[in-house]
Amino acid sequence: MTATHQPVCEIRQVRAAVLERDDYRCVRCGVTNEQYKAVYDRQLELRRRKPGSEYTLGGCEIVCRACNVQLSRSEARRKPEPLAKKREK
Ligand SMILES: [Zn+2]
Repeated sequence: MTATHQPVCEIRQVRAAVLERDDYRCVRCGVTNEQYKAVYDRQLELRRRKPGSEYTLGGCEIVCRACNVQLSRSEARRKPEPLAKKREK
């Protein structure tokens, strides 16, 4: 089993556990899953603290889409990809 190919059922379990731990709120802005669903008609997202890592209870947190995007952007700024290494996908 490789770290990047976890079964979906396992990721769902992690997601449920992380949701419960984070009190069904975005850890960054504090919007609740209920509020979020009411406004955007979608659920809060499971985010890995370390991109590309395995989904684990300790390694994930619950965020809303906006925070997820912002966090990903600030991460990209902190760790710029080397220019020589272009993304293939
Ligand atoms: Zn948020």
